[in-house]
Amino acid sequence: MIRPIVKYGTASLHRPAEKVDAITPDLQTLIDDMIETMYAAPGVGLAAPQVGLPLRLFVVDISVGRNAADLMVFVNPEFVERDGMQLEEEGCLSVPGFTATVARPARAVVRGQDRTGTERLVEGTGLLARAFQHEMDHLDGRLFVDHLRGIKRDLIVRKIQKLTRAGEW
Ligand SMILES: [Zn+2]
Repeated sequence: MIRPIVKYGTASLHRPAEKVDAITPDLQTLIDDMIETMYAAPGVGLAAPQVGLPLRLFVVDISVGRNAADLMVFVNPEFVERDGMQLEEEGCLSVPGFTATVARPARAVVRGQDRTGTERLVEGTGLLARAFQHEMDHLDGRLFVDHLRGIKRDLIVRKIQKLTRAGEW
């Protein structure tokens, strides 16, 4: 089932998510829904706070469904290593219509459980490293907009406020 993706301004996007206690049938349903929602959007990643649930869980697929091996589910993930630097244009399904150049480490190693509860360690570089960091940010209540400073950030926030007031957000 495709779930609605919440947007900038919704509480679940702006506060840290809670640890997942157990991989239950309900959680499996949520994971299936998140994968379906990510592909339908389409996007390269989706975190549980984006469907309104404050849980430390995200799905990622940098091939957007073209390569089955690229689909990954992380439950209670954490960073093991991060290094280097990349500067790329970035957007977010929860901030539709806006993009910005965001500095991110070029390499990120994430450890977490997959949907069977098995511990896994994955190294990402380039786009995958960026996706890992973008999704991990969601679990900490941070959006790409929060990485921007000064006028760049103000411009996006003011446009969102204007859209919200107009009932168009
Ligand atoms: Zn996002």
